[in-house]
Amino acid sequence: MANDPVILITGGSRGIGRATALLAAAAGYRVCINYHQNQAAAGELVREIQAAGGTAIAVRADVSKEEDVRNLFGSIDQTFGPLTALVNNAGILEKQARLDEMDAERLQRVFATNVTGSFLCAREAVRRMSTKNGGTGGAIVNVSSGAAKHGAPNEYIDYAASKGAIDSMTIGLAKEVAAEGIRVNAVRPGLIYTDIHASGGEPGRVDRLSQLVPMQRGGQPEEVARTILWLLSDEASYVTGTLVDVTGGR
Ligand code: NAP
Repeated sequence: MANDPVILITGGSRGIGRATALLAAAAGYRVCINYHQNQAAAGELVREIQAAGGTAIAVRADVSKEEDVRNLFGSIDQTFGPLTALVNNAGILEKQARLDEMDAERLQRVFATNVTGSFLCAREAVRRMSTKNGGTGGAIVNVSSGAAKHGAPNEYIDYAASKGAIDSMTIGLAKEVAAEGIRVNAVRPGLIYTDIHASGGEPGRVDRLSQLVPMQRGGQPEEVARTILWLLSDEASYVTGTLVDVTGGR
């Protein structure tokens, strides 16, 4: 329906983004699923949402590329109209390593996707949502990580530091646009069962570390997605600049 809210979920094809897309569609959002390479996963998710009576499109874009991000938001403008919500979820990590083994190319890749990508998407969202620019407001949720707190030693300090940057951006941007109808918050997931651990070289990482979690288990993507949907909703109408840990107490 033309009046239904519009959400963009970056990295929406798999993992936490996928779970968020499904919940958002069920909540009545028209959903733009951004993906980078896995067109099959994104297409399958669109079909799943449509089969359940929802509205979704999939748009390929590398969020670290300014031109791609412009085109991504342009596609949403044309297909759906004004954006209501952004979930800055796309994120990567690289093979587990110590800092003294990391080269500049690796650091550039991690910061380009996790930090620059989130900044560029937030910029395009604010340009559209801000009442200062003629918009009607909106909400942004950044997907940070519990790693921003504990630093991920011997695994990926670069990734942890990129999420620290996201926390600072969340706090600053929330204040910058609070009087312009936009709320900005972050979730900081802990150990969640997704493919990201395999890309770090250890598919079984969640189970290996789950005993360190006070709740004694890893989390499911849906448990993060529910928190994201709450932060985007009017139920969280007085919540901005907040970092919500979804970590089972870790
Ligand atoms: P995942 O299963 O590896 O999925 C990553 C998603 O990001 C995919 O949809 C992928 O697209 C997309 N993506 C990667 N690089 C991109 C780029 N340059 N441009 C656009 N999209 C890109 O990851 P996940 O575990 O769900 O993680 C989602 C977010 O949660 C990330 O920000 C991650 O840091 C954060 N997080 C995860 C955990 C955890 O334990 N899983 C914990 C804390 C924080 P393709 O499908 O096309 O590859």
